[in-house]
Amino acid sequence: MNKINQLDIISTYSDNSIWDKLFLVEFSNNKYWNDQLSQISNLIDSEIESILSSETSWKNTFLKFKKVCSFADYFVNLIYIYKSMNKTSKSVNEFLEKASTISDEIWVKVTSNEDVIRKFKQLKNITKSSNKKLILGDWLKNLFDAHQNGKKKNQYNKHYSNLQSSIEAFNKHNDDILKGNRNSIFVPSKDKHLIVGLSKATLKIAKKNAIANNVDGWIFYVSDHNILSICANAKNRDFRKLAYKKYQSTHANGQHITKNNAIIKQIMVNKHKIANVLNKTNYADLVISNHLLNTKHKVNKYLDKMELGVEEKALEIINEMKAIALQDNVRKLKPWDHYYYFTKLEKKHKNKSVKFKEFYSFDTAFPKIIDFFEKNLNLKFELLGHSKKDFDSFYYKITDKKTGHIMHLIFSPFEKTNKTGCYQYDISTKSKIGKETTSSVQYIECDIDVNNFSFFELSCLIHEFGHAFHTFLSQDEDAYAKNVSYSWDLIEMPSQFLEFLVFDYNFMKKISKKPISKQDFLSLVSAEQYFEAYYVYRNIKKNRIIFNTYLNFRPYSQANIHADVTKMMEQEGIIYNISQDSYMSYENYLSDYAPVGYIYLLSAQIAQKIDRTDLRYVFDNLFNSNQRIGFKDKLNQFVDISDLDINSHINKELPIFTY
Ligand SMILES: [Zn+2]
Repeated sequence: MNKINQLDIISTYSDNSIWDKLFLVEFSNNKYWNDQLSQISNLIDSEIESILSSETSWKNTFLKFKKVCSFADYFVNLIYIYKSMNKTSKSVNEFLEKASTISDEIWVKVTSNEDVIRKFKQLKNITKSSNKKLILGDWLKNLFDAHQNGKKKNQYNKHYSNLQSSIEAFNKHNDDILKGNRNSIFVPSKDKHLIVGLSKATLKIAKKNAIANNVDGWIFYVSDHNILSICANAKNRDFRKLAYKKYQSTHANGQHITKNNAIIKQIMVNKHKIANVLNKTNYADLVISNHLLNTKHKVNKYLDKMELGVEEKALEIINEMKAIALQDNVRKLKPWDHYYYFTKLEKKHKNKSVKFKEFYSFDTAFPKIIDFFEKNLNLKFELLGHSKKDFDSFYYKITDKKTGHIMHLIFSPFEKTNKTGCYQYDISTKSKIGKETTSSVQYIECDIDVNNFSFFELSCLIHEFGHAFHTFLSQDEDAYAKNVSYSWDLIEMPSQFLEFLVFDYNFMKKISKKPISKQDFLSLVSAEQYFEAYYVYRNIKKNRIIFNTYLNFRPYSQANIHADVTKMMEQEGIIYNISQDSYMSYENYLSDYAPVGYIYLLSAQIAQKIDRTDLRYVFDNLFNSNQRIGFKDKLNQFVDISDLDINSHINKELPIFTY
């Protein structure tokens, strides 16, 4: 893999080649890159200076700023991703720490300059084109956050900065708990019977922990990463309960540390106050105001309808679980039993079906998936190289054959220790600067176990490519092209739309390693689908509790949120600890899933209704933020359109561009 050791920032910025090169940089020469850091700072200063000193115009003000902002954004994101994916030397890490501080400063410089904001407002006033006015309005609102002014803005900033401090305290406190080993369970060798059933991987880590502590046996550090797997597999009920209690009371001596409860409350108070400044009664109201279902009545109506739809089948499954539990003399399913008996039931069903592994492996499927994307989306993939050092990442150049636009992709498919989940991240979004369109630079991380490639991993993989293609093929090149331009329920739609390929026999036939008959395929899919109603049912229960917690939150109430939420979840047999919910630390209400976890469900259901004959056509039209039409009729087939109040969304210039 040919990485770039040196890159002249100034000259590549001026000829726009920086978008095709910066992501390939290897920051190994500290002296050189320290020098380039100051070059970057100077470049930003002089660009802003020149914007302020020239006459206000589309070219001098907007396009010049758009370029410097796109670059600053690219740099900030690249440093962030580089830090997360690289296992580099101490000296490179030192450089990255410094670069990260400087990139934050650069970002503040670009987005908080009152003179630039004034110039933008002035430009919006003198511009005649209504389309340009809309674009400038979008930038003012989404980037500069300039939709409030005066006293309100000061109040907002105050709560926002308080929120940031409480989130910092929350993260630090959780780190301390994990570092302080207050979440540990020691099982001495003589008590081996307690841990029968646990996976080899879990036991291996626990053994290692014990060795590191010079004791004979196993040490488990209970956290978000392993609690579900422990409760799903440990045969001994007492041990499952012990692990659950440890997880819930991760803190000292089995008690919640009141400090953490206070921090959670502080976060919720600040989020609530931000909502109040923005004229909303509570934080749930604020978050949903940007979504398709934008009032609590619509949300509840939707959740009720969904719950009713799946209840019968879900209860049937729960009864099957109860019947198995009864054989162990377990009469009431506690949270620590739910996952265990569910796993047992799942195994029973899957044993009857065709094995996914027999037909699919990552190594044989992935090249065929690329082939499929190339043909069906009119793209060309070129592998630039493979870097072992960067988390085993593959570097691709992807060309849109229709427009000639370029996307660079860093793709890190395999599972990593201490990291879970999959995501896609825009390092740099494609942007139109004058006549040129800058390349899109994206990162996809997956969690694939190559030896045990699963149906779920395959759908996640395709899901993340859906996000990548959405930003690449459909995003408005003139908008302030960050996720905030879309409401979160719509961001999930294209990826879920693509993800449904896993239920398409023709697609699955193409990517299998040996021929699969329609009958075998249906057996595979129905085994995967069998528990869907149960998942949806539990998903609704869980998300309704969280939604209501934000909805009913009162800043002056003495309630213990941690304990209350835990209790409600326990009654439903759900393992959930609000102290370990990473959404607690989301500071931007536009991208905060916390109160609205159900939107995956909603957008998946809508995505399912979309005609799939021509995938590219859908990305070009339905998901295209420039089109703003066409979506309504599709939605209408699924939900009562009056429920969604789309017109008022559009009239209010709310950030839903997909219609
Ligand atoms: Zn997603």
